[in-house]
Amino acid sequence: MDSYNILTEKELALLSEGTSQLPLRVLQTTDEIDNQILHQVCTPVEPRDPNLKLLISRLYATVRDEEKPGVGIAAPQIGVNRRVFLAQRLDKKDQPFEFFINPEIVWYSKVKRIGEEGCLSIPERYEEVVRSLAIQITYYDLEGQHFQEIVEGYTAVILQHEYDHLNGVLFPERIDEQMQQEFFDASPNGELVYKK
Ligand SMILES: [Zn+2]
Repeated sequence: MDSYNILTEKELALLSEGTSQLPLRVLQTTDEIDNQILHQVCTPVEPRDPNLKLLISRLYATVRDEEKPGVGIAAPQIGVNRRVFLAQRLDKKDQPFEFFINPEIVWYSKVKRIGEEGCLSIPERYEEVVRSLAIQITYYDLEGQHFQEIVEGYTAVILQHEYDHLNGVLFPERIDEQMQQEFFDASPNGELVYKK
């Protein structure tokens, strides 16, 4: 096990607040300190660190919070700047939440789609974001096994949104970036392709 990447005492103290079935506070961009934490690049974790289960269960309780449920959540959103996120697999039967440890998106399709996004960390903002229609993602499980898969459609959008969180990027910044790429070709079925 790589001891350099195990969760710190400070991170564990945060994750141990209350009981593990309770949601934690979601950091908000409207708070200056939260906003700084949300914009940090997260560091990898050791997949076999036994404390990762606690991180994952707190993330799950938080994304499933009845008062503000989501389809995905990344560790920095609860104040832990680590490369872990949860995403709802809308492309699978029963639409389970799955966790992704040290994920890497290793391929983005050139064909894009546009769709509305919101974020648990950004109050009352829902806007259209251009994302790749399909991606290839690699990640680890808790046994340290490495996986790769190709995902498309709205689930691929969730994965791109959550992956961005691990690099300190929030969806309004993607919109700003896209505003500078002015020209799209719209295909008849509504998919978008960058001209350049
Ligand atoms: Zn988000």
